[in-house]
Amino acid sequence: MSAVSFESVKGLDYADKSVWDRVVYKYGGKGASLMRMTAMGLPVPPGFTIPARTDSLHDWSQIVDFVKDMFPSYGSGTNPQLLSCRSGAAVSMPGMMDTVLCLGINDANYPSLVRQMSPPVAANTYCRLLKGFGTVVLGIDESDFPRDYGDVDAFKVVVGDRFPQDVFEQLRVAVDAVFSSWKNERAVEYRKNFGISHELGTACTVQAMVFGNQNENSGTGVCFTRNPNTGVKELYGEYLCCAQGEDVVSGDRQGVPVSNMPEHLFKQLQDMCTVLECEKRDAQDIEFTVENGKLYLLQTRDAKRTAAAAVRIAADMYAENIIDRATAVCRVTPDQISSLLRAQFATSERREVVCMGTPASPGAAVGRLAFTTSRAKEMTKVYDDVILFRPFTKPDDVPAFFVVRGVITASGGPTSHAAVVARQIGVPCVVGTGSEMIDSTSVSFGGHIFHEGDVVSMDGATGEVMVGALDLVCPDSDSLDTFAETILSLADEICVEADGLRVWANADCSEDAERALKYGAKGIGLCRTEHQFFKPERLKVVRRVLEGTGGPDDLDAVEKFQRGDFYDLLKTASGCPVIIRLLDPPLHEFLPDCEELSEENPMLGLRGVRLGLLRPEITSMQCRAIRDAYVRLRDEGMDPKPYIMVPFISFPREMKVMRERIETVVGSLPIPVGCMIETPSAAMQSDDLSMYADFFSVGSNDLTQMALGISRDDCHTFVGEYVEEGLIEDDPFVTMHPVVARLIHAAAIKSDVQSFGLCGEHGGDTKTIERMARTLNYVSCSPFRVPGARLAAARSYV
Ligand code: ADP
Ligand code: MG
Ligand code: MG
Repeated sequence: MSAVSFESVKGLDYADKSVWDRVVYKYGGKGASLMRMTAMGLPVPPGFTIPARTDSLHDWSQIVDFVKDMFPSYGSGTNPQLLSCRSGAAVSMPGMMDTVLCLGINDANYPSLVRQMSPPVAANTYCRLLKGFGTVVLGIDESDFPRDYGDVDAFKVVVGDRFPQDVFEQLRVAVDAVFSSWKNERAVEYRKNFGISHELGTACTVQAMVFGNQNENSGTGVCFTRNPNTGVKELYGEYLCCAQGEDVVSGDRQGVPVSNMPEHLFKQLQDMCTVLECEKRDAQDIEFTVENGKLYLLQTRDAKRTAAAAVRIAADMYAENIIDRATAVCRVTPDQISSLLRAQFATSERREVVCMGTPASPGAAVGRLAFTTSRAKEMTKVYDDVILFRPFTKPDDVPAFFVVRGVITASGGPTSHAAVVARQIGVPCVVGTGSEMIDSTSVSFGGHIFHEGDVVSMDGATGEVMVGALDLVCPDSDSLDTFAETILSLADEICVEADGLRVWANADCSEDAERALKYGAKGIGLCRTEHQFFKPERLKVVRRVLEGTGGPDDLDAVEKFQRGDFYDLLKTASGCPVIIRLLDPPLHEFLPDCEELSEENPMLGLRGVRLGLLRPEITSMQCRAIRDAYVRLRDEGMDPKPYIMVPFISFPREMKVMRERIETVVGSLPIPVGCMIETPSAAMQSDDLSMYADFFSVGSNDLTQMALGISRDDCHTFVGEYVEEGLIEDDPFVTMHPVVARLIHAAAIKSDVQSFGLCGEHGGDTKTIERMARTLNYVSCSPFRVPGARLAAARSYV
């Protein structure tokens, strides 16, 4: 493993991705970018890079030879050449590792340096070396040094005789320090947080110094080729006159905007930025230094950016012909697209977290605590922002979800009722915090007592609950901007050309459907009819119908509002398929007080098709409502496309009977009838089932629960720890478990149906989409996840 000079690898074909990746892997991002810029003919001070390693260097003599050959006047008595010694790994870890500048000065050559540079500049430079060496190599505290550079003797006192006068010894220990900075605490911590391998190691670059601290005609700066906050195409950065790079990157001194640099230099910088962007085909973050009016580049890397900037830069670069369609789509992550639709806390905010729950519906919220649905609704008349806390949620709580800013529960997992509905509506939600009500108007969050009206902040993306009001940054509006639209339409093109996965949405009412279509859903994959029963005036009637205590009037009343709901929904989604699931109410939630129907294990009890078979009047009523809505819309010249879906099938014969009953009502109208695949039994009998079903839709929550034997409502008691311990890779209710994927795959292969989709929250998960992209025809997720899912689907075909 020997070092190479930037100059010696000029001939490599850096534009070839595999070549570039290899160079980055071996010489680190910094070394590789210096080599590539040298090959491009850009002004880079000469230097060489020692390949990445995780331990210290063994063969020092080879490096000595290299330096003597390349920099014969390094640290010499007359006109000494000075060097920098820089860390840099394959993955950028800004500021985590060490760099030492201005190596090569000692008391013997200092007088020559004074003549070469002028006394104050030489003193400034020596002081910088003593301080940099002292802090990085000797571990001296920065505050032990004088604040201002200039008094060399004062700096020497601090380092004492631990500063080597032998310039090669200076370089050797600096190189050692750089390599061992791979293992310093903050670097290790950073790698853990970002999942970077500890095996990569850092490279070490030794490079000729250029001096931005020479005079007024010199300086240093950092500049982004596009605005990293907004993505706007403009040079964005700072320039600091008469200074060295460290002054800017450490945040020590504030510069002026780069546009205030001397005009000819700014122009040169602009030209170099354009050249670099074209070569690297992405926005760059550049370090530069001006020495005596001459501009040098010291580093370039792909710029870190906000989600909004990522989207805009990808769309613009595609329009400018710098990147192709597939690259543009891969430049934006599904998470970034989704985050554009949510309010977030300013990243600068300090978080005083009082308790953690399961992140259930992303988004940030601040508000006053309310402990009951009725109080929450009353309080929203007085305050704009209310956060509802409930020990757990029931259908009666759902109306409040629409008026509060956020929902927190004590128990429940990410597929609990609260979570599913919250995601559907797009209200931030944290469940399973384990908090306890103390009395009816106070709660304990991790030992902190909060009363009704106290202000808390919550982050539905992380599960954190915090004291007081944190600052929120809100997206401009409820819709995506034109740049996001561009990226998503490119994504859709890729999916269509690959004849791949389409993205549909779950929507229970026409408002949901409208939003889903606006976000680009191509169909409604799941309308949960029972969610239409939550309105208080409806609940009473519905309860009587479910209990079987109601009369024909009650059934008529339900039919009437169902017909209206289906009419609205099908009208909004005219031209798109709308899959309406027959009733699958969690009876324990709808009828908590009904002794007769109470079950020990209601999730495996009288639900789904079982209820439909035992209560044929409910099935027929729903089918009539769908049929009548369909006929009315058709007669009005619309294009309604309802599908009827039977939930929770275990046996093909259930489906046979249900289909007959449904057909008695809908007759020969073009309304396909299908069922959910949400029990392992249905998955394994998909061939027989497809005799009675026109389409299948996987209900992945129930299927996961039954396939893995993990209760979706109790999984929070151990799943988190399982993931942490590495017993399972992901929470199986967030990312589909491979075993469930295998069941679905087997079911898909042997079934003969028009379409095979998946509804439920897995459908919005990036990893699940990648896993299922070649098995399913579509996924259906909540409207807010549609844009991210469209992107994830496309990315799995490039
Ligand atoms: P980091 O990864 O912390 O940015 P760098 O190795 O890039 O560390 O160096 C820190 C600062 O020193 C940067 O501003 C860089 O531009 C500057 N610097 C590094 N090498 C030289 C050099 N040869 N001449 C002038 N400035 C340099
Ligand atoms: Mg740097
Ligand atoms: Mg289900």
